[in-house]
Amino acid sequence: MNIAVCIKQVPDTAEIKWTENNTIDRNGLESVINPFDVYALETALRIKDKYENIRITALTMGPPQAEEIIRKAISFGVDNGFVITDKKFSGADTVATGRTIANAISKCIENVDLVICGQFATDGDTAQTGPTISTNLNYALATYVKEVLNIENGFITVKKEVEDGIETLKLKLPAVICIQKCDYEPRRPLIDGFIKAQKAEIPYYSMDDIGLEADKVGIKGSPTYVSKAFRPEQKHGGEIFENLTTQESVNKIIEALND
Ligand code: FAD
Repeated sequence: MNIAVCIKQVPDTAEIKWTENNTIDRNGLESVINPFDVYALETALRIKDKYENIRITALTMGPPQAEEIIRKAISFGVDNGFVITDKKFSGADTVATGRTIANAISKCIENVDLVICGQFATDGDTAQTGPTISTNLNYALATYVKEVLNIENGFITVKKEVEDGIETLKLKLPAVICIQKCDYEPRRPLIDGFIKAQKAEIPYYSMDDIGLEADKVGIKGSPTYVSKAFRPEQKHGGEIFENLTTQESVNKIIEALND
């Protein structure tokens, strides 16, 4: 079974700066693997621990420096990885990003049964990339997944979070699953994983390699226009009701909400 894990390099900070075009200014920022993608990697590695003949490929779309997070993924135990990189990808919105990643998955990895994404990237935070990949590949989709319960007879069963609880969902493979923060701790890199990661060859794939045209990638392939980006105003204070009975507190809160 072949698993592709999509990982994104994100700035290691909450202090995001913006460019004139309302995109993130990544200059001088330390980068890390998107925290949800660490859970995506852990989910893939748990499947590999449990089942035989599992091959995991980690991939990222980004600048050449994103190779660093692919090496990190290899140090955790994934089998190999690659970077999808091309100046023409710059300015991609989620439509172009999902299309580019989906094309790379079908062109550069043989017979992918399962694509695992994080639920959100902590910088863009749209949660649209996983669903866009599934639409482009025509794969089944489950979002907000907390755990993979079982893979059997061409189906995968997952536990997913819904507004009022947990649902169990059985999907026909091939599928895309988007991983929410899980209840388990992701593993740490292995010593021999570090050595393997240092020695690994990390291929770079360009727009031509993945068989897309210039009007389908980057800013040209992106229908989204960001008119404004701003930090929401932080609200402070609030009123604290003290020395009241429960009923009095409830009445006060209802009164305040009505106001
Ligand atoms: P989400 O959809 O929240 O991510 C969910 C999951 O999808 C992640 O956990 C991960 O598993 C996967 N994923 C997301 N992105 C990647 C990736 N790149 N590689 C592998 N897996 C991934 N960003 C730039 O870096 N450079 C730009 O020049 C740029 N220009 C933009 C221009 C416009 C007009 C817009 C709207 C956005 C631009 N962005 C740019 C941001 C970029 O579109 C998003 O970061 C990207 O589409 C992913 O969306 P997201 O961050 O909301 O990820």
